[in-house]
Amino acid sequence: MRMFEQGKPFYKGNLHMHTTNTDGRLSLEDAIARYHDAGYDFICVTDHWKRTVGAEVHGGMLVLPGIEVDYFMASQVLHITGINVDETIVDTIDRKWGPQRGIDAIRAAGGLAVLAHPMWSLNTTETICSLKRLTAAEIYNSTSRPPWNGDRADATGVLDMAAANGCVLNTIAVDDAHYYNGDECYSFIRLQADTLTPESVSEALEKGAFYATQGPEIHQVTLEGDTVSVDCSPAARILFHSNRPYAKDRCAMGPGVTHAEYQIRRDWCESFVRVIVEDEQGRRAWANPVVVPY
Ligand SMILES: [Zn+2]
Ligand SMILES: [Zn+2]
Repeated sequence: MRMFEQGKPFYKGNLHMHTTNTDGRLSLEDAIARYHDAGYDFICVTDHWKRTVGAEVHGGMLVLPGIEVDYFMASQVLHITGINVDETIVDTIDRKWGPQRGIDAIRAAGGLAVLAHPMWSLNTTETICSLKRLTAAEIYNSTSRPPWNGDRADATGVLDMAAANGCVLNTIAVDDAHYYNGDECYSFIRLQADTLTPESVSEALEKGAFYATQGPEIHQVTLEGDTVSVDCSPAARILFHSNRPYAKDRCAMGPGVTHAEYQIRRDWCESFVRVIVEDEQGRRAWANPVVVPY
């Protein structure tokens, strides 16, 4: 198994952000300009319960229509973003129907459903595993850290626990930009789409042809036999997470490490492997989990 197509370019995108149409501090026009000027290839505008924009192209950058819906539960909240939803979403989504019907409405509107900031939301394994038809979950959410929030941006642990319990989700990194004073243009995905169109981007997202990052590049992840290997930009360390707490070769240490391998232990019933690459500045990249075939 090779996670990425050799030699195919990666597009850079952010799939979660807000505008003054809800609680964001920048207008749609200014938010688009901020990402365009930072060199993004695509963004998705996900205002709360509102579809702010249709599919558009701005100076070569693709803008996708999105939405964010939220639900309250006893000890947690649940936020779901809908990526590339058509205009029917506005009539088919309602908080009183609950999260699963929200996901189903996003899907019916042609969109992809993403579990937003599960660590910030305090989502439990049971909650995450109860949701059907999710495309991915946010493993990092830029605005869920100081000074805008407490420090619950990184959902690696939560998503490891869900994966260990059988709910293995692909992962994206997003900004969830509200303030645009440092919470924007920080966490993103790199996506291997055929072309920069809404259809092609959705198809690549559905296929899992992407990785989440704050800068480090993941060039390839392969599974051959029981060996997971990764090739990446020079890193301070490369980590391999799985459903087993201890393994002696979980960390490949740099500086400047660009390749590492991990041996899957079937006698330990290892079911998934997540590759994390960290650079000298502490910025991370997360590959989608490799599911171990049995
Ligand atoms: Zn949210
Ligand atoms: Zn949001």
